[in-house]
This record gives sequence, structure tokens and C-alpha cells, in this order.
Amino acid sequence: MAARREYRDPETRHDLGPMNVACAHCGALHWIDERVAASSKHAPEFGICCNHGKVQLEGLHQPPEPLHRLLVGNDAQAQEFRSHITQYNSALAFTSLGVSDDKNINKHGPNAWVFRILGNLRHLSSALTAPDGVSPSYAQLYMYDPSVALQQRMNRNSNLRRDTMQALQTMLTLFHPYAAIYKQAYEILEDVGDVEEAEVRLRVMPGQDHRRYNLPTAEEVAVILPGDGSAGDGRDIILRNRQVNGAPMQRISDIHPAYAPLYYVLLFPHGEHGWHPDIYLDEPEKAHPQRLS
Ligand SMILES: [Zn+2]
Repeated sequence: MAARREYRDPETRHDLGPMNVACAHCGALHWIDERVAASSKHAPEFGICCNHGKVQLEGLHQPPEPLHRLLVGNDAQAQEFRSHITQYNSALAFTSLGVSDDKNINKHGPNAWVFRILGNLRHLSSALTAPDGVSPSYAQLYMYDPSVALQQRMNRNSNLRRDTMQALQTMLTLFHPYAAIYKQAYEILEDVGDVEEAEVRLRVMPGQDHRRYNLPTAEEVAVILPGDGSAGDGRDIILRNRQVNGAPMQRISDIHPAYAPLYYVLLFPHGEHGWHPDIYLDEPEKAHPQRLS
């Protein structure tokens, strides 16, 4: 067994230089050493962003109002919003961030606060109804009357502006498709009644246009009830109305297309789907589109 030694920075540093080399196909910025081995420094080719232009992402849609104004405006409300944007986002997210925050690192001295995590970042999903005596949070708040949800969000974030929170909450309820999809799942589960283990699985079916990401619609997100013989492949988001006694919050697979938009609601206010293994590659030389997986 190796003895524990205090960690010291190595004496020589490896310097990758600036991360400013753009992919010729998608414009993603890279370090030059990330280029594929067969390409030169003068005409670098990259595989890890868009696989040489085969993955074509649709540009982000213009954010709806009032988010757009808050992102670009210079008035006091917009400035306050931008200085607390991660807090607003977290207050309005459907999922929560699960991290093992390394508390030791900030104990020593008045240095800049450092966010270091142990292990990896997880996005967690809870039951759609809060347990008795616990105030609702995250997706649970989308099941409530808007005035109740707003009050709960302000109770947890009393330093934020109520008018901004209210405007963003209304906007997301209108524009983020998962607000309606979660509500639909909740109503299905309410109809099923008090059946232990009743669950709804959210699975995204690939859209018609195989080259591009589509905005999710309720028709594309299949709601699968238990007992249909489909075991799922571990990628579905599983929703329950009540937490099974003692069960931990559920971890969402990071290859579910809704992984990013369920947490980063202010980055993807239209619920734009993120990367997933069923995305099609754009290869005109092939007769049929080829899936990544
Ligand atoms: Zn690229």
C-alpha cells in the first residue's frame, strides 16, 4: 500500500498554449494538440466536436422575452439578473445538480473561492410530489399553481428580484416543452392512483429530419407506462409521483437528449435537445443516414 504524501505541484508544467484554433466546419475552439493525428498544424482537422462536419447542429433559437432583454439589456433589472444568473437558473430548473463539493479546499486563507468536486457531476430528478412536511423544489414546482410556485422559489432565494423570477417562471411555463410534458406525466400518474411503483418513462423518439436536432414536441417524447413489456435501456427519465420510501433521488443519464435542457433552462428555454447517441450523421455519400451508436 502506498504511503499518503502531501500533494505538490509538479516542477515542470505542460503548456498547451491558447485554446483558439477553430474547427473549419463548426467553429468550435480547440487546442492545436487536439487535432487528429493525420492533419497538419496548418490545416488542422478535429474529430471531437462535429466529427469533421458530419454532426450539424442547429443554431440556438433566439431566447423568448423577457429573457432576451435580460441577457442584453443595460437597465438595473437586466444587470441584477446577469449577476445572479446561475441562481435564477437553479431556482427554475427541473433537475438538481448533485456534486460532492470538496469543502476542504476553501478552508485555508482568504484566497478566491474554489469550486472543486470529487467524482463527477450528476443531474438528479426527484419525485413529482414533495414528501409531507418538505417544501417542493425543482420539477415539483411546475405541478403547482404559479403563485404558490413563485412564493416557494422566493422563499429559497430571498436575495433575488420577485418581478424577474415571476417573468421567467411564466416564460418557461409557456415555452419550455418539458413544463407541459412533466405536467402530463403527473396527470397520468394521478389517474393511475395510489399504485406503488407507478412510473412514467420519458423517451425521446428521433424526429423526422435526421440531419438536425429538432425542438422537442410532446409527440416526440413518448410516455411509457409500466406493464407494457418494455424494460427500458437505462437511458429513460423515470418519473414517479411519490418517492418510494427511502429511495435516493434518481440520476439522469447524461446521454438523454433532455439532460442539458432540464437543468440549464435559461440556456435552452425552448427545451432544445442536446447530444444523444441516436443523432444522425450528415453523410451525403451514403444512401442512408448512419447513427452514431
Ligand atoms: Zn467541428
